[in-house]
Amino acid sequence: MSDALLDVRDLVTRFRTKRGTLVAVDGVSFNIGRGETLGLVGESGCGKSATGQSIMRLIEPPGEIAGGSMVFEGEDLRAKSREEMRQVRGARIAMIFQDPTTTLNPVFPVGGQIAELFRYHTSAGPKEAKARVIDMLAEVGIPRPHERYDAYPHEFSGGMQQRVIIACALVLRPALVIADEPTTALDVTVQAQILALLQRLQRSETNTAVILISHDLGVVAQMCERVCVMYAGNIVEVATTADILDAPKHPYTVGLMQSIPRLDLDEDAAVRPIPGVVADPIRPPSGCKFHPRCAHAFARCYSERPTLKATGNGHMAACHLYDQT
Ligand code: SF4
Repeated sequence: MSDALLDVRDLVTRFRTKRGTLVAVDGVSFNIGRGETLGLVGESGCGKSATGQSIMRLIEPPGEIAGGSMVFEGEDLRAKSREEMRQVRGARIAMIFQDPTTTLNPVFPVGGQIAELFRYHTSAGPKEAKARVIDMLAEVGIPRPHERYDAYPHEFSGGMQQRVIIACALVLRPALVIADEPTTALDVTVQAQILALLQRLQRSETNTAVILISHDLGVVAQMCERVCVMYAGNIVEVATTADILDAPKHPYTVGLMQSIPRLDLDEDAAVRPIPGVVADPIRPPSGCKFHPRCAHAFARCYSERPTLKATGNGHMAACHLYDQT
């Protein structure tokens, strides 16, 4: 058995729609070790958020987790009851969303909300919980945490709200945090501060593993040791961040790299978006789902779906260019 903190195997998550079944996550497998930071990157609609929500068991009808396993700390999250999952969420696995209103109720002061979460999962009394939350607010860099404990969410700036969300996610020292586009709504300077904060907290005290979900390969490269690149519900490449940046294998990853704005190139050469549109998840293209957008497509790509294959040095790619047997 894998000694990974979380081992996701062949995960399938789908949604019933009027047009047909939308397969958001189409047989995804990956793992993450304790204290590791793993990036899930891809364009909007590629299934990365649905993967995070599946791990948290937040998929509700008309969606369903239709296959695979998610073994966390030795137990399959799919086999857990709703009540058992409530115990896991927040305490062992926490999620940070882009939109603070997903986590914080606007009509209650923030300190009380975090304290309530803390007390739900521990035997702490009100005083102990309040002290812990104030410590946590201080740790994430909220000035005057004693006073800010009683402030309402709207009294914080966007960056400060996101710090509060991080405090909420880490207050129970979870083993895993899933951060879904945690800085996308923030301006670039605040974004860098929040990413640095997450990194510092993760390293310094909690040894928490982080799955960072982002459309921005630049953000993922800054934070993560390993990267899974997703396209149309599949993981198409897995490698260390250094390998992805130095020698991306999958044509989609190459395209993602070229679509990152570069300040060292002139305006015309600086950004080259990937041509074409993202595959329709209800009626995906045959064979390799990326073939309508791929400049390297050849006959086999139109009929046969590539699977992840090792290309050396722990690097894996799902592309027939690397599987010419
Ligand atoms: Fe391109 Fe073919 Fe590789 Fe798909 S399998 S990425 S179409 S070369």
